[in-house]
Amino acid sequence: MCGIVGYIGGQKASPILLSGLMKLEYRGYDSAGIATLEDGTPTVVKNTGRVRNLYQDPQLDALTGTVGIAHTRWATHGAPNDVNSHPQVSQSGRIAVVHNGIIENYAKLKEFLESKGVVFASETDTEVVAQLLEYYYDGDLLDAVSKVLHRIEGAYALGIVCADEPDKLVAVRKDSPLVLGYGEGFNLLASDVTAVIKHTREVCYLDDGEVAVLTPG
Ligand code: GLU
Repeated sequence: MCGIVGYIGGQKASPILLSGLMKLEYRGYDSAGIATLEDGTPTVVKNTGRVRNLYQDPQLDALTGTVGIAHTRWATHGAPNDVNSHPQVSQSGRIAVVHNGIIENYAKLKEFLESKGVVFASETDTEVVAQLLEYYYDGDLLDAVSKVLHRIEGAYALGIVCADEPDKLVAVRKDSPLVLGYGEGFNLLASDVTAVIKHTREVCYLDDGEVAVLTPG
């Protein structure tokens, strides 16, 4: 288990994401991380330990963007360390992913991507999703997501951001919980309603197999 949260809107995303993570720590707490889009590019800060360690990371000062995703992890694939913590990014660093669940066929997909020259940085099943998204990305994130969903097996709630489409935050769910929160000029995603309730009481639970594209409006 683990907790994910995402925000897209007009405010600085990192304080909203971090306070959301604090609410989700009961779901996992071996490491935590956050990525916001800075000048369009995902900038990741992550480390081993609880969310309060992340709060104290001086690198957080660089995160001023208004779109982002965050994660508090309970490792299933790969040791709890800085590299394996989420967000996981694609090789170019242009796509970032947070994930709750297990990609059961990750080994086969990893082998496929390695045969295409993709170099992996972590031991996680999640990195396969980020790398596969980049492999399929051809200017349309939703199209890449759809192709990836046809290839991955297992359980997942995903939050995805992409440098080439900085006005979008994509949410995907199958067999792991995910709720969306609707606000005025912002929208949120989270593993549990406790992470969004401070900001909005208008929520919607994604059904299995559903995909949502969140924009500030
Ligand atoms: N399988 C992922 C990992 O080990 C996510 C773990 C989880 O959902 O707790 O990084």
